[in-house]
Amino acid sequence: MRKAYQNLSLNKSSNFSKSGESKIQTTHYYVRFLPKDDIEKEVLQDQDELMLFDMPLDYELEEGVGGVYHDPTLPINQITWQYTSVPVDYKFRDIQYEKLANLFLQDDEDEKSNTKNKMNTNFWYELEDEALLITGNKDEIEEENTGTANKRRKWYPSGKIRYEDNTTSTSKIIPLQGAKIIVKRWFRWRSDITDANGYFKVGKFRNKKVKCAIKWERKDWDIRSGSYGQAWYGFESLKRGRSWNKTIKKSIEPRNWLYASVHRGAMEYFYNHKSYGIRKPYNKRILLKRRLHIGAKDKRGRAHYFDFNRIWWASPIAIYSKGNNGTVYDSRELFATTVHELAHVSHWEIGYNTGKYIIDRLADDPFLPESWATGVEYVIIERVYPKQVYGIYDFDYQQQRTLRYIQTSSQGYTPIVIDMIDSFNQSTVNSARPNDRVSGYTLGQLEDALPGALGSWWRWRTKIKEKYNNPTENKELDYLFKEYR
Ligand SMILES: [Zn+2]
Repeated sequence: MRKAYQNLSLNKSSNFSKSGESKIQTTHYYVRFLPKDDIEKEVLQDQDELMLFDMPLDYELEEGVGGVYHDPTLPINQITWQYTSVPVDYKFRDIQYEKLANLFLQDDEDEKSNTKNKMNTNFWYELEDEALLITGNKDEIEEENTGTANKRRKWYPSGKIRYEDNTTSTSKIIPLQGAKIIVKRWFRWRSDITDANGYFKVGKFRNKKVKCAIKWERKDWDIRSGSYGQAWYGFESLKRGRSWNKTIKKSIEPRNWLYASVHRGAMEYFYNHKSYGIRKPYNKRILLKRRLHIGAKDKRGRAHYFDFNRIWWASPIAIYSKGNNGTVYDSRELFATTVHELAHVSHWEIGYNTGKYIIDRLADDPFLPESWATGVEYVIIERVYPKQVYGIYDFDYQQQRTLRYIQTSSQGYTPIVIDMIDSFNQSTVNSARPNDRVSGYTLGQLEDALPGALGSWWRWRTKIKEKYNNPTENKELDYLFKEYR
């Protein structure tokens, strides 16, 4: 950009030389940071409120293909360079960084209040064009055949993001809420979150062309492409006057469709938990707590949650697009799996831990954590995917199972939460099924009774009895706890 200054200062006809060099001062630095761990990254994002890009700001991801950029000179399990711009008065911390260029960034919002700035705005665009020319990005330069006023007409990029839900045989196209949209032009960007209709609109631009992307993250979590890299959709060019309307379909963008599917599950749990009477699954309440990383992998595998992954910056949660046996998951299954894994996260937040899980698992099957996560998954799916519309969700641990199956084959994924909540006794349909006479508990009550680090299946039962008065809490409740285990 300094080179661009020099070129313009030699050109007598430019706005630059007309108004004098003295008015132009560096306002920002184009920089990159190399956080050594998650904590440093979180400080930059949260405390300094920097928007971080994994890729150089002149790097464009392959258009229309979701993905990830990792600096090829860095090991894949290390956080990649994070690019952004900072104001000149930014106080650099003890976090590795490099200044890449001085920038002269004009804040469009100031234009009206200051006529001097108006002049500066023209410099900025001229400077930007010159810089684009020097760096071989000639195609990006605004066309010159219209007058300056028209050329720089302001506009507010907007659009609508939708998602293909393929649960039913005929897909449903639904709005994608809560997606973080980033609209960028070179070193400047604005962002917005899509509303319930999938609609977004960002602040003012005067460029004829901008680039649009979805950064798959929110304040409490981010979605990783695999384990380490931030998942992105983008960038795509958008011309003035057009809208960025996208329908994310599996057949066209399988990876972004997977990210969107996981995003929907996380949105429901993080932002709608109160309506189910349960807690937010993960709180970034203390400053140095990192956001929750959710790895989304477009391959076979078994979803899991391992909190010991937190010692690195890999993702503690992994969600796969296919099962180990090759089964391809649909929208509802991916949504449900995300909710299930978040229920584990929430349980760990309450005080359960990985050491305990391993002990439970070695002793028998992990009845407590898996039954809890199954229950949350079931309740949320019942509401978001009502069976009247989407058909029955084929849990392999459905409440229709026989008692024998639950005892010998459920691997800890019992229907006990469902049975404590509903008033349906499945043995009345088939006597081989459990004689479930318990009813009337709420998901929130069962969560509040979850035992912490020293708890067990039996401790859960005891706490449920101690905390609540329920007419079915005696032999009826004992039956479920004893027979299911
Ligand atoms: Zn589980």
